[in-house]
Order: sequence, then C-alpha cells, then structure tokens
Amino acid sequence: MSTTSISLQDIWRARAAIAGHIRRTLLVPSPALSTAAGADIWLKLETQQDTGSFKLRGATNKLRSLSEEARAKGVVAVSTGNHGRGVATAAARLGVRCVVFMSELVPDNKRRAIEDAGAEIRIVGKSQDEAEIDAQELVAADRMTMIHPFDDAHVAAGQGTIGLELLEDLPDIAAAVVPLSGGGLIGGIAYALKAASPDIRVAGVSMDRGPAMVESLKAGMPVPVEEEASLADSLGGGIGLENKLTFALVRDHVDDTVLVSEDEIARAMTWLFRNEGIVAEGGAAVGVAALLAGKLSLPAGPVVLVISGRNIDMARFHEIVAEA
Ligand SMILES: *Cc1c(COP(=O)(O)O)cnc(C)c1O
Repeated sequence: MSTTSISLQDIWRARAAIAGHIRRTLLVPSPALSTAAGADIWLKLETQQDTGSFKLRGATNKLRSLSEEARAKGVVAVSTGNHGRGVATAAARLGVRCVVFMSELVPDNKRRAIEDAGAEIRIVGKSQDEAEIDAQELVAADRMTMIHPFDDAHVAAGQGTIGLELLEDLPDIAAAVVPLSGGGLIGGIAYALKAASPDIRVAGVSMDRGPAMVESLKAGMPVPVEEEASLADSLGGGIGLENKLTFALVRDHVDDTVLVSEDEIARAMTWLFRNEGIVAEGGAAVGVAALLAGKLSLPAGPVVLVISGRNIDMARFHEIVAEA
C-alpha cells in the first residue's frame, strides 16, 4: 500500500478488515436542524462509536495491517485524547503491546481513560513536542511501530469507511460536512464520496483558533500554527511540516473549508443536546456550528453532518450547555 496516496480499493479493504471490530454507526435525519437550515439535514453519529470517536476505525485498520513480527514488537502513539483511546483499544483487542506518550499537562481523567483501555502510559515533559521526541526514541530502540493520528494511508482509509456507509444508507447524498484537523477523517470520506460522484460536495470545518490545514491550504504547503486553547480541543495541533498524505488528499478532494468561533461551537453543542439529546464534544459540533451560523453554502438534496465524537469532561459539558 502506498504511503502518499489512498485508493477506493484501500477503503473497501479497510472496511473488510474492521468489520465486526467497530460499530457501523447510525445515520439519522434531523428534522429540527432541517427546519432551522431550510435544508434536508442528516447526522452521522460517530458519537456512538466504541471508544466515543471515529478514531477507532483508522486505528483498527492500521493495527490489523501489521505483520506478526510488528505486532509482537508493539505500537506507540503520542496522544492525549481520542487517538490514544482508539489505538489503545485496537491494540488491546489484538493482544499487542501499546505505549501512549503524553505531557505532564494532560488532565488525570484523560490519562485514566487511555490507561483503562489497556495501554502503558509515559508522561514526559511539558509539551506534546517533548512527548513526541521520547516516543521516537522508544520506537527506534524497541523497533516498535508509531501509529500516526492522520498522516497514514491505513488510518485515512479506515476513516474513509464512513464514506462507504453514507453511500449505502443515503445513495442520494448531495454533500458531507466534516470536522477538519489533520485531515485523515475528511480525506478518507471525501475520497470515497468523490469516487462515487464528483458532484457530491465535501466541506471541512475547523475552529478559527489555529486551523492548521486551512492555513496550509492557503499557503499552498504545510505551515505551522500557534496552538490555542479551544472548545474544539480534538481539532488542535499541526498537520506536520513533512506531511506526506493528508495535505494533498484534502487539497485535491475537499471543495470548501469554513472556520467557526468559540461562541458558535458552544451554541452548536447546546443545540445538539437540547434538540437531539446528543452529547458531542466541541470538535464534533463544528459542522452544526457552521450550519447554524449560516456559513455553509448548501446544494439541493440531502446533507450529512459528521458528528465525530463525544469525549468531553461532563462537568465542562454541563457548564457549556448551562451558559449558552
Ligand atoms: C481527531 C478528531 C477529528 C479530526 O480528525 P482529523 O483526521 O485529524 O482531521 C475530529 N473530531 C474528533 C472528535 C476527533 O477526535
């Protein structure tokens, strides 16, 4: 399999590899959002995915692609959140050793969730960059496999299985609106949808605080961004200056990008909870945020918003929903 591109066959192979190991999540119509937006709006509920986010798809596909020898050596991830949970869970199920690196600044509850999934935790330094350096050292010393959160063909193809499910459940789909950070999620989905029809529109939504992919697309190459605290914490971080897959994937297959503010994200989280009973983390609610803010240009026909995860501290969630 290529490291710099994916094919439709890769996505179907991923689908076969992860079948029975991940949940095939529901696609539901949203009458309330449809009325609010004057369009036919559907929600793809990766909030209901095992581990609480779609990241289990890519992680499972990647882990299952490894040789017996690589599995015996184990895997490493650098993550404070959904990627760490996904990799830890996929590895535990296959009986593969998994070490997750994170910085001292990671809150206890996040650390425990990854530990409970069965991973060894290494706490190093005061930033993810320091954690990354230590992780690379372990990978080299123990000949383990680093599992990247997005810039990996097996990972992006795994996320792309969402696109196949959308085509099965809603063959008339006219557009998909997808949270955008490193671009593995939207890249995989866009590839699958555009292979079915280039007329299906795909829009990415990021927070306006440090949107690395959007800045990189503007610059015509991967650029660094200043990391800022955001309700959409799962969308934070750079795309990697040495990006080999997702920058081109997003540039070539995604039609539009939209940015949303913190207020818009909080409003969307509140809206989803009150109207649909859905708990979505900030990074998962950005599509709804863009829709409610009137920032999306919608084609005629069914529009799917991917609600990518639900992992948020409940005390924080209550604050946000009470304030908005
Ligand atoms: C990782 C993540 C994203 C972004 O996925 P990318 O592949 O990095 O673009 C969106 N939503 C949630 C909940 C995530 O965990």
